[in-house]
Amino acid sequence: MLIKNIFKSKKTVISFEIFPPKKDNSIDTIYDTIDALKDLKPDFISVTYGAGGSTRDKTIEIASIIKNKYYIESLAHLTCIALTEDRLKAFLNEVNRNNINNIMALRGDLPADTSENLLNFSSYHYASDLVKYIKTNSNLGVGGACYPEGHFECKSVEDDVENLKIKVNNGADFLITQLFFDTDRFYDFKDLAVKNGINVPVSAGIMPVTNAKQIQRMISLSGASVPSKLSRILAKYENNPAALKEAGIAYATEQIIDLLSWGVDGIHIYTMNRPEICRKLIQNISSIRETLATAK
Ligand code: FAD
Repeated sequence: MLIKNIFKSKKTVISFEIFPPKKDNSIDTIYDTIDALKDLKPDFISVTYGAGGSTRDKTIEIASIIKNKYYIESLAHLTCIALTEDRLKAFLNEVNRNNINNIMALRGDLPADTSENLLNFSSYHYASDLVKYIKTNSNLGVGGACYPEGHFECKSVEDDVENLKIKVNNGADFLITQLFFDTDRFYDFKDLAVKNGINVPVSAGIMPVTNAKQIQRMISLSGASVPSKLSRILAKYENNPAALKEAGIAYATEQIIDLLSWGVDGIHIYTMNRPEICRKLIQNISSIRETLATAK
């Protein structure tokens, strides 16, 4: 099923993101993760495409397991840095052979030292070029990334939204945001997107803060702003993993409840392959979620 049709049939779409196991781990470890996530009845599960290359081959394999063994809609990520047309065709053939209907079309991060060479080598400079190719050459559904606080390479969120418009005009059916902690930034971004004629559904990417070291890395990579309420939590509990986990889940729950009452199109939980945390979040909104199952 095309994910754009799930957005049409539900008030709010709940989805999860997982990543392939690291190189030395067996693919079997992902079964435990999907087994646990399946009970939470997500509308779809997305599978990332490894920046380093080592886990890339597993993206389609895992997206296929989700779709064909668990009967949950899947979204296979793909990045276009240094991607040739031959490799893209091979990827799309594999996707079709595995009955996967949706691709998350991304550019990928540029490695600091070789960015110019990589961009010159790439047939597809921006994610919007990848979206255009997939839409022209297949019947697949296509998602794209967006950034409530602006992409870090772009000088302003306004410029970034203008570029995002190209991605949507080229055929992106829906968007998923980078993680954010300040919900007001998401609302401002949505207003700006709508003003620029971007009317496709936008899912809000939520990452529960459960590990101080990991979250500092995520914050520095994403540039997400940290509201004072969250800074206090991080400062107070950074050396108490159990307390930080509890507080992080409570913070993410509050974000989700606020977004749902605002009328967000979707919530996309970055699970970090930790289904127990995702389970707590979903349990925290169980009664609210029942009201979302109805058609728009
Ligand atoms: P683009 O949309 O191409 O944008 C990149 C930059 O170029 C932006 O600053 C944009 O404003 C600018 N730009 C775009 N079009 C134009 C234009 N026509 N002219 C001038 N400038 C332009 N990375 C992975 O490696 N694997 C993953 O699985 C993965 N999954 C992700 C999932 C989500 C939901 C998100 C939000 C990000 C994900 N990423 C992933 C990270 C992503 O690859 C990086 O953030 C990357 O730096 C940008 O990717 P993009 O698709 O947004 O690129």
